[in-house]
Amino acid sequence: MTLTEKDSQYLWHPYTQHKTSQTPIAISRGEGALLWDENNKEYIDAIASWWVNPFGHSNKIIADAIYKQLTTLEHVLFGGFTHEPAINVAEKLIEILPKNQQKIFFSDNGSTAVEVAIKVALQYFFNKNEKRTTIIAFENAFHGDTFAAMAASGISFYTQAFQGMFIDVVRIPVPVKGQEQESFEALKNVIQNYNCAGFIFEPLVQGAAGMVMYAPEALAKLIQICKENNVLTIADEVMTGFGKTGKTFAMDYVSENPDMICLSKALTGGTIPMAITTFTQEVFDAFYDDDINKALFHGHTFTANPTGCAAALASIDLLQTPEMQANIERINKSHLSFQKKIENHSKVITARTLGVIFAVEIKSDLEESYYGSMRTKLYNFFIEKGVVLRPVGNIVYILPPYIMTDEQLQKVYKTIEEAIEMV
Ligand SMILES: *Cc1c(COP(=O)(O)O)cnc(C)c1O
Repeated sequence: MTLTEKDSQYLWHPYTQHKTSQTPIAISRGEGALLWDENNKEYIDAIASWWVNPFGHSNKIIADAIYKQLTTLEHVLFGGFTHEPAINVAEKLIEILPKNQQKIFFSDNGSTAVEVAIKVALQYFFNKNEKRTTIIAFENAFHGDTFAAMAASGISFYTQAFQGMFIDVVRIPVPVKGQEQESFEALKNVIQNYNCAGFIFEPLVQGAAGMVMYAPEALAKLIQICKENNVLTIADEVMTGFGKTGKTFAMDYVSENPDMICLSKALTGGTIPMAITTFTQEVFDAFYDDDINKALFHGHTFTANPTGCAAALASIDLLQTPEMQANIERINKSHLSFQKKIENHSKVITARTLGVIFAVEIKSDLEESYYGSMRTKLYNFFIEKGVVLRPVGNIVYILPPYIMTDEQLQKVYKTIEEAIEMV
């Protein structure tokens, strides 16, 4: 049997209707921005494998750090024990995160980072004997696939089977250009009418919604409204963190700091699953008490896995090198000139860029829903051309590894231009 035949016998893939979907491509090797399948066909990974891999596949520096840690201390439980790699990651993050972030809590993936933040927001008020049980979130948000994360997510595709089984979430419009006032008013209304504990948002860019972007000033205003009303704010930087927006964190553009930040994708350079939720001292202090019941009873078996921590440290070091910062700027400039080139095309509705993130909305007569016929046609075209892109409906976005070469980037652009002509 071939790998794909064995795959269809044994495996269940994410976000996949196995009856109607094509067989997956078996990838056997990756290097830099490139992947090769079992028949040695080459692909450019233009979405950094779901936004996790900024420094290229099979990165030697991260691999060495992992090997060294594996042969020193691969894992130890984090209940009652600690270790240098976790302490070093915490110290490093506190140095580079928005200044009010003081405490680091480890988990395994973006959804659990969000799950922890939402539980903390709810328990924060429980511990203070205040009845606040509603979470505020944006329309079309994506915060992950576990239950509280799903509750906060607004893309019905992912959550429709579970409606009615969620914690209380009220949604407000995203303050995209022209809709800012509506968003501010909606937030004030929700806070007046519900007992709100927290407001969770993807700062500046809603990834899964199709790289929907909004301004830092609008977000600052929303956070201010929350602060005036003692509502905790949660910045879900799972997608935007570690350089994607051109700054280390999207919140670096925003004049107001959040109470909590969720991190995961790109934390370990796309090597080992790991996530972190960070908190202000003030949030931590609401759990600090002689009463054991006020503690945060949340944990995962692999919390603060030393190997993951070693990968994270190596990744953050790589991110901070002048070469990597120059790469981010180079890709941003390149995106901006591509945007200029295509934004007036008759089949382009709109194009947008922030940091290394680029998105274009394409006009066509095909069905444009999340997994509609247009998306399928585009996806297949890109794969055939050897470019990994996963359009969201009629939106094609690029989120490349920062080490992608200009030549590879030009090939991605050219393929997108061809796709625009084709649909
Ligand atoms: C991907 C993502 C998540 C979920 O992360 P997983 O690791 O897939 O659980 C949460 N929030 C945002 C903004 C994401 O992009």
